[in-house]
Amino acid sequence: MKQQRADSSLKEKFDEFLRTRQKRCTQERHRILNIIESMQVQFTADDIMEALYRDSYHVSPPTVYSTLDLLHDCGILRRFIIDRQKFCYERVNVSGGVHHVHLMCTGCGKVKQVRDSELTRSIAARRWTGFTPDDYSLNIYGLCNACLRKQSAANKKAKSKSNTTK
Ligand SMILES: [Zn+2]
Repeated sequence: MKQQRADSSLKEKFDEFLRTRQKRCTQERHRILNIIESMQVQFTADDIMEALYRDSYHVSPPTVYSTLDLLHDCGILRRFIIDRQKFCYERVNVSGGVHHVHLMCTGCGKVKQVRDSELTRSIAARRWTGFTPDDYSLNIYGLCNACLRKQSAANKKAKSKSNTTK
């Protein structure tokens, strides 16, 4: 019930934003918003394109990118940089105010969401002079297990190679 109400308000919010920017409320943009509403975790533009493709719905990549930009500008999406090229998105307040930490792998770009009640409590208790926070996002960068294994295997290989050449 709560979810449905939130969804229709997202569409209203987006349409209102498009009107004020004198942009058209197209079917393609609404379709992309629909897909985003079903996303519970972070996603990339590629994920959106895949979902559109699965529905046999054709939207050009530039339209997908520009729609994600618009959704970000209107405050529906939050954007993270995974590496120099790639953005990853998340709906603002997707977890209904329950905060999570993003563990972001700089090797493969995978993002894992974890809840950490100790961090949540400690951040909620923080006070800053001259600033009232209303939301936050926490990214921790590192390597996932698969990438860590790959890296240490590569290091071992490089090491044994340098040993044999001595
Ligand atoms: Zn990885």
